[in-house]
Amino acid sequence: MNNIVIFGAPGSGKGTQSDKLIAKYGFEHISTGDVLRSEIKNGTELGKTAKEYIDKGQLIPDELMVDILASVYDSFGKEHKGVIFDGFPRTIPQAEALKAMLAERGHRIAAMIELDVPEEELMKRLILRGKESGRSDDNEETIKKRLGVYHNQTAPLIDWYKKEGVHNHIHGLGELDTIFGDITTVIDQL
Ligand code: AMP
Repeated sequence: MNNIVIFGAPGSGKGTQSDKLIAKYGFEHISTGDVLRSEIKNGTELGKTAKEYIDKGQLIPDELMVDILASVYDSFGKEHKGVIFDGFPRTIPQAEALKAMLAERGHRIAAMIELDVPEEELMKRLILRGKESGRSDDNEETIKKRLGVYHNQTAPLIDWYKKEGVHNHIHGLGELDTIFGDITTVIDQL
Protein backbone atom coordinates (compact mmCIF):
# COMPACT_ATOMS: atom_id res chain seq x y z
CA MET A 1 0.00 0.00 0.00
CA ASN A 2 1.49 3.33 -1.07
CA ASN A 3 -0.18 6.30 0.57
CA ILE A 4 1.05 9.44 -1.13
CA VAL A 5 0.79 13.13 -0.31
CA ILE A 6 0.81 15.21 -3.49
CA PHE A 7 1.96 18.59 -2.35
CA GLY A 8 2.33 22.09 -3.78
CA ALA A 9 0.92 25.59 -3.99
CA PRO A 10 -2.51 26.26 -5.51
CA GLY A 11 -2.11 25.84 -9.28
CA SER A 12 0.96 23.59 -9.04
CA GLY A 13 -0.81 20.74 -10.85
CA LYS A 14 -1.77 18.48 -7.91
CA GLY A 15 -5.22 17.67 -9.28
CA THR A 16 -4.03 17.02 -12.84
CA GLN A 17 -1.19 14.76 -11.75
CA SER A 18 -3.45 12.96 -9.24
CA ASP A 19 -5.85 12.01 -12.05
CA LYS A 20 -2.96 10.52 -14.04
CA LEU A 21 -1.68 8.61 -11.02
CA ILE A 22 -5.11 7.16 -10.32
CA ALA A 23 -5.40 6.00 -13.94
CA LYS A 24 -1.95 4.37 -13.89
CA TYR A 25 -1.84 2.80 -10.42
CA GLY A 26 -5.49 2.43 -9.35
CA PHE A 27 -4.99 4.56 -6.26
CA GLU A 28 -7.87 6.06 -4.31
CA HIS A 29 -8.04 9.86 -4.14
CA ILE A 30 -8.91 12.38 -1.43
CA SER A 31 -9.07 15.98 -2.60
CA THR A 32 -10.22 18.00 0.39
CA GLY A 33 -10.96 20.97 -1.90
CA ASP A 34 -13.31 18.77 -4.00
CA VAL A 35 -14.98 17.41 -0.83
CA LEU A 36 -15.62 20.96 0.38
CA ARG A 37 -16.90 22.17 -3.02
CA SER A 38 -19.34 19.25 -3.11
CA GLU A 39 -20.57 20.09 0.42
CA ILE A 40 -21.12 23.69 -0.72
CA LYS A 41 -23.04 22.51 -3.78
CA ASN A 42 -25.25 20.30 -1.60
CA GLY A 43 -25.93 23.16 0.80
CA THR A 44 -24.83 21.25 3.95
CA GLU A 45 -23.88 22.93 7.24
CA LEU A 46 -20.25 22.04 6.60
CA GLY A 47 -20.55 23.55 3.12
CA LYS A 48 -21.93 26.81 4.52
CA THR A 49 -19.05 27.09 7.00
CA ALA A 50 -16.47 26.11 4.37
CA LYS A 51 -17.69 28.68 1.84
CA GLU A 52 -16.96 31.56 4.22
CA TYR A 53 -13.33 30.51 4.52
CA ILE A 54 -12.83 29.51 0.87
CA ASP A 55 -14.16 32.80 -0.49
CA LYS A 56 -11.71 34.67 1.72
CA GLY A 57 -8.81 32.49 0.57
CA GLN A 58 -8.37 31.15 4.11
CA LEU A 59 -8.01 27.60 5.38
CA ILE A 60 -10.89 25.74 7.03
CA PRO A 61 -10.11 25.03 10.73
CA ASP A 62 -8.00 21.91 11.27
CA GLU A 63 -10.55 20.07 13.49
CA LEU A 64 -13.17 20.11 10.73
CA MET A 65 -10.70 18.91 8.10
CA VAL A 66 -9.34 16.06 10.20
CA ASP A 67 -12.82 14.62 10.85
CA ILE A 68 -13.64 14.67 7.13
CA LEU A 69 -10.36 13.04 6.28
CA ALA A 70 -10.71 10.01 8.55
CA SER A 71 -14.23 9.24 7.34
CA VAL A 72 -13.27 9.48 3.65
CA TYR A 73 -10.15 7.36 4.25
CA ASP A 74 -12.18 4.61 5.95
CA SER A 75 -14.67 4.57 3.09
CA PHE A 76 -11.93 3.00 0.90
CA GLY A 77 -11.87 -0.18 3.05
CA LYS A 78 -8.73 -1.91 4.31
CA GLU A 79 -7.28 -3.40 1.14
CA HIS A 80 -6.78 -0.34 -1.09
CA LYS A 81 -3.57 0.06 -3.13
CA GLY A 82 -2.89 3.48 -1.65
CA VAL A 83 -4.54 6.84 -1.32
CA ILE A 84 -3.43 10.09 -2.93
CA PHE A 85 -3.87 12.95 -0.47
CA ASP A 86 -4.40 16.04 -2.62
CA GLY A 87 -4.69 19.37 -0.80
CA PHE A 88 -4.23 17.74 2.60
CA PRO A 89 -2.30 18.29 4.83
CA ARG A 90 -2.01 22.07 4.59
CA THR A 91 -0.76 22.78 8.13
CA ILE A 92 1.60 21.05 10.53
CA PRO A 93 -1.26 20.04 12.90
CA GLN A 94 -3.00 18.43 9.89
CA ALA A 95 0.17 16.49 9.03
CA GLU A 96 0.44 15.28 12.61
CA ALA A 97 -3.24 14.30 12.65
CA LEU A 98 -2.83 12.44 9.35
CA LYS A 99 0.17 10.56 10.70
CA ALA A 100 -1.73 9.59 13.86
CA MET A 101 -4.87 8.58 11.93
CA LEU A 102 -2.84 6.32 9.63
CA ALA A 103 -0.78 4.88 12.52
CA GLU A 104 -4.01 3.87 14.32
CA ARG A 105 -4.77 1.75 11.25
CA GLY A 106 -1.24 0.38 10.91
CA HIS A 107 -0.61 2.54 7.82
CA ARG A 108 1.79 5.35 6.88
CA ILE A 109 2.70 7.93 4.23
CA ALA A 110 5.12 6.26 1.80
CA ALA A 111 6.04 9.45 -0.10
CA MET A 112 5.40 13.17 -0.13
CA ILE A 113 5.77 14.57 -3.64
CA GLU A 114 6.37 18.32 -3.82
CA LEU A 115 5.45 19.96 -7.14
CA ASP A 116 7.62 23.06 -7.25
CA VAL A 117 6.32 25.82 -9.56
CA PRO A 118 7.45 29.48 -9.62
CA GLU A 119 4.95 31.98 -8.25
CA GLU A 120 4.56 33.91 -11.53
CA GLU A 121 3.48 30.75 -13.31
CA LEU A 122 1.04 29.87 -10.49
CA MET A 123 -0.68 33.25 -10.86
CA LYS A 124 -0.99 32.77 -14.63
CA ARG A 125 -2.42 29.27 -14.32
CA LEU A 126 -4.93 30.17 -11.59
CA ILE A 127 -6.25 33.24 -13.42
CA LEU A 128 -6.74 31.10 -16.54
CA ARG A 129 -8.42 28.34 -14.49
CA GLY A 130 -10.77 30.93 -12.96
CA LYS A 131 -11.84 32.03 -16.45
CA GLU A 132 -12.38 28.47 -17.64
CA SER A 133 -13.97 26.82 -14.59
CA GLY A 134 -15.60 29.78 -12.88
CA ARG A 135 -14.18 28.69 -9.50
CA SER A 136 -15.15 31.48 -7.13
CA ASP A 137 -11.75 31.54 -5.39
CA ASP A 138 -9.74 31.75 -8.66
CA ASN A 139 -9.85 35.55 -8.90
CA GLU A 140 -6.75 37.71 -8.59
CA GLU A 141 -7.41 39.02 -5.08
CA THR A 142 -8.24 35.63 -3.55
CA ILE A 143 -5.40 33.93 -5.43
CA LYS A 144 -2.90 36.33 -3.83
CA LYS A 145 -4.31 35.55 -0.38
CA ARG A 146 -4.17 31.79 -1.04
CA LEU A 147 -0.54 32.01 -2.16
CA GLY A 148 0.23 33.94 1.04
CA VAL A 149 -1.50 31.26 3.12
CA TYR A 150 0.50 28.62 1.24
CA HIS A 151 3.82 30.28 2.09
CA ASN A 152 2.99 30.94 5.73
CA GLN A 153 1.01 27.88 6.79
CA THR A 154 1.62 25.13 4.23
CA ALA A 155 5.22 25.46 2.94
CA PRO A 156 6.68 24.62 6.41
CA LEU A 157 5.45 21.08 5.72
CA ILE A 158 8.33 20.64 3.26
CA ASP A 159 10.80 20.55 6.15
CA TRP A 160 8.37 18.53 8.26
CA TYR A 161 8.25 15.79 5.60
CA LYS A 162 12.02 16.00 5.06
CA LYS A 163 12.38 15.08 8.74
CA GLU A 164 9.98 12.18 8.19
CA GLY A 165 12.34 11.01 5.44
CA VAL A 166 9.67 10.84 2.71
CA HIS A 167 10.05 14.18 0.88
CA ASN A 168 10.63 14.17 -2.91
CA HIS A 169 11.16 17.35 -4.92
CA ILE A 170 9.77 17.52 -8.49
CA HIS A 171 10.17 20.42 -10.93
CA GLY A 172 6.56 21.23 -11.72
CA LEU A 173 7.21 23.48 -14.69
CA GLY A 174 7.31 21.99 -18.19
CA GLU A 175 5.57 19.25 -20.12
CA LEU A 176 2.79 17.46 -18.22
CA ASP A 177 4.08 14.04 -19.25
CA THR A 178 7.68 14.82 -18.25
CA ILE A 179 6.49 15.87 -14.79
CA PHE A 180 4.33 12.75 -14.59
CA GLY A 181 7.35 10.63 -15.59
CA ASP A 182 9.39 12.15 -12.76
CA ILE A 183 6.60 11.37 -10.29
CA THR A 184 6.24 7.77 -11.46
CA THR A 185 10.01 7.28 -11.06
CA VAL A 186 9.59 8.14 -7.37
CA ILE A 187 6.56 5.89 -6.95
CA ASP A 188 8.10 2.94 -8.79
CA GLN A 189 10.99 2.99 -6.31
CA LEU A 190 8.75 2.71 -3.25
P1 AMP B 1 -8.04 23.37 -3.22
O1 AMP B 1 -9.08 22.91 -4.18
O2 AMP B 1 -7.24 22.23 -2.66
O3 AMP B 1 -7.19 24.47 -3.76
O4 AMP B 1 -8.83 23.98 -1.97
C1 AMP B 1 -9.67 25.12 -2.11
C2 AMP B 1 -9.94 25.76 -0.74
O5 AMP B 1 -10.54 24.80 0.13
C3 AMP B 1 -8.68 26.22 0.00
O6 AMP B 1 -8.27 27.52 -0.40
C4 AMP B 1 -9.17 26.18 1.45
O7 AMP B 1 -9.99 27.28 1.75
C5 AMP B 1 -10.04 24.93 1.46
N1 AMP B 1 -9.26 23.71 1.81
C6 AMP B 1 -8.98 22.64 0.99
N2 AMP B 1 -8.23 21.73 1.63
C7 AMP B 1 -8.02 22.23 2.88
C8 AMP B 1 -7.30 21.77 4.02
N3 AMP B 1 -6.62 20.61 3.99
N4 AMP B 1 -7.30 22.55 5.12
C9 AMP B 1 -7.96 23.72 5.17
N5 AMP B 1 -8.65 24.23 4.15
C10 AMP B 1 -8.69 23.49 3.00
